[in-house]
Amino acid sequence: MKFTVDHDYHIHSTLSACSKDPAQSTAHILQYAMENGYGQICLTDHFWDETVPGASRWYAPQNYDHVRKSLPLPRAEGVEFLFGVETEMTKDNILGISPERYDAFDFIIVPVSHFHMVGFALSEEDAATVEGRANRFLTKLEAVLAMPLPHHKIGLAHLANDTLGGRDLSMYCQVLRQITGDHLRQLFKKAAALGVGIELNTSCLAFRSEEEAQAVTAFYTVAKECGCKFYIGTDAHHPAQLVGQKAIAQCFADRLGLTEENQFHIGK
Ligand SMILES: [Zn+2]
Ligand SMILES: [Zn+2]
Repeated sequence: MKFTVDHDYHIHSTLSACSKDPAQSTAHILQYAMENGYGQICLTDHFWDETVPGASRWYAPQNYDHVRKSLPLPRAEGVEFLFGVETEMTKDNILGISPERYDAFDFIIVPVSHFHMVGFALSEEDAATVEGRANRFLTKLEAVLAMPLPHHKIGLAHLANDTLGGRDLSMYCQVLRQITGDHLRQLFKKAAALGVGIELNTSCLAFRSEEEAQAVTAFYTVAKECGCKFYIGTDAHHPAQLVGQKAIAQCFADRLGLTEENQFHIGK
């Protein structure tokens, strides 16, 4: 059977500081799931645990009391609406969630590619070169996989993301090509063994050039060859970003040749 786009595990609500859109309510998100026939969706607002020192000024207000304002999540027949978060890993490999909080969430997504946050998620020195960016991506990914996390409910958010190149398309493609090698293969093998989910983020899959399509496909092909399991996330911050994403996801899943064997499910 084919890989089915029957879920969305990366969605922000109005609570995320980069959304603040009253129209991006949990009621609207649930409506989106019903209209697309999704059986499982997960809310993943930005989160920094207040018990972990080192939050940036932007993250600090997005603590547990803040993200849990969305509870209880609205319900509808046939849709499982899960409560997750997108946390952060700093340039010094500090993860913005403490072990005491793991049970509070159904799913925890960890980004290692938030390289637009220079000074916080990436040092100025590493940001300056393709090699610095590629190397730091790999060492961050290695660090996440070495942590004693509840791996069955960990997702690796948008690994291939144009933020890797500071939103410069040409630099992004260069960084991706630099990353796609033996070290990456080793890390994807470990990710597969641990059972973490690899995210296919539709906001990074509407390719702007053939070069980008090839670099991203080559990157995720390594993950597939290593036995990783994948899930879809829109990373939507506004209602318009929920529209048309199912087709983009299915198109890329087909391009990678994914089947149900390659599918990651939360809680399974
Ligand atoms: Zn992100
Ligand atoms: Zn996000």
